[in-house]
Amino acid sequence: MNPVFANLPTTIFTVMSGLARDLGAINLGQGFPDDPGPEDVRRRAAEAVLDGDNQYPPMMGLPALREAIAAHYARHQDLSLDPHTEVMVTSGATEALAATLLSLIAPGDEVVLFAPLYDAYLPLVRQAGGVPRIVNLQPPHFRLEEEALAAVFCDRTKLVVLNNPLNPSATVFGRENLALLARFCTRHDVVAVCDEVWEHIVFDGVKHCPLMALPGMRDRTVKIGSAGKIFGLTGWKVGFVMAASPLLRAVAGAHQFLTFTTPPCLQTAVAYGLGKPDASFDDMRTRFARSRDRLSGGLAARGFTVLPSAGTYFLNVDIAPLGFDDDAAFCDTLVRRHGVAAIPVSAFYDADPVRHIVRLCFAKSDATLDAALDRLGDVARKAA
Ligand code: PMP
Ligand code: GLN
Repeated sequence: MNPVFANLPTTIFTVMSGLARDLGAINLGQGFPDDPGPEDVRRRAAEAVLDGDNQYPPMMGLPALREAIAAHYARHQDLSLDPHTEVMVTSGATEALAATLLSLIAPGDEVVLFAPLYDAYLPLVRQAGGVPRIVNLQPPHFRLEEEALAAVFCDRTKLVVLNNPLNPSATVFGRENLALLARFCTRHDVVAVCDEVWEHIVFDGVKHCPLMALPGMRDRTVKIGSAGKIFGLTGWKVGFVMAASPLLRAVAGAHQFLTFTTPPCLQTAVAYGLGKPDASFDDMRTRFARSRDRLSGGLAARGFTVLPSAGTYFLNVDIAPLGFDDDAAFCDTLVRRHGVAAIPVSAFYDADPVRHIVRLCFAKSDATLDAALDRLGDVARKAA
């Protein structure tokens, strides 16, 4: 067996969702909204199944979707992408990450990553034969710092993987912080893989800045997106890869043997959804920001220390002030005794994890958030 995969534990998201199901707990662990998602987009998918073509779509994605992706990013992020040579559709951002990392890393290449890191990154880098160089970002701000970057970037560095906005810390890297990373990429001739699946879920008037837009980055960035996140339909697994054509051609080489294509009905519906007016994206952000504030305000009122959440479906609490120093043990007790599933942020580190931060998903109805708050209030009272 391949030790990269055979020895891996089950992902923390699967474990926590399983416990929540088995114990009947409120699931604020794995990130998914509890509403059914936009009806018009779902209806388009249903119509496409019944009336459309259900045979293999083109390997690079339906032309209508690739054109919609290019138009969407021109409108929302001022990017200019050629839909025919610089855009590819994948089965979720997960497949986009796999195709990108497997095709762009050669054995022995050093790859810079930032922890907390999304769980798919490290196994894929290792499978490709890459040598991970991980920078641990520090709470509460999780910023990129010049000194830390200087310690890992070198002439062997071939790739850097950045997630912005960052899951689980809910930080959004702004232009200034990205410019620092861009300087290291251009200085060391490094390709950046930017996982921007949370790009539309940003709050408080902040505008997402794609790494690709930074000086020197246009032709050395692979940008990854996810319709699952853009429409709150996480089970759909429709992702996008955008890159200059020499990079995209390599990524397509891997994609053709990972999934080859993605269900055409979903592609048709996503093409429709990406063209919806700005107001529908603004409404989504407003709804999520309200839910964030409801959970955050409720937690603060019950004695929790809540870290800032600038984007994603998540906010984090610092459990150290309540006297806890083991986030995994805390989450285990929380789900088993108090009936709320959450995610220990230590699961997103490879070494020297931060152990006092717990992630909660607020993309839920008011009633679910209020019920969870009642239960979390008991935890804080017992700790006091
Ligand atoms: N990257 C990050 C940072 C994520 O949070 C997620 C899913 N939550 C993904 C990738 C995977 O996206 P998809 O479901 O489109 O595969
Ligand atoms: N990305 C989702 C989260 O952070 C989980 C996706 C998964 O279960 N693999 O909660």
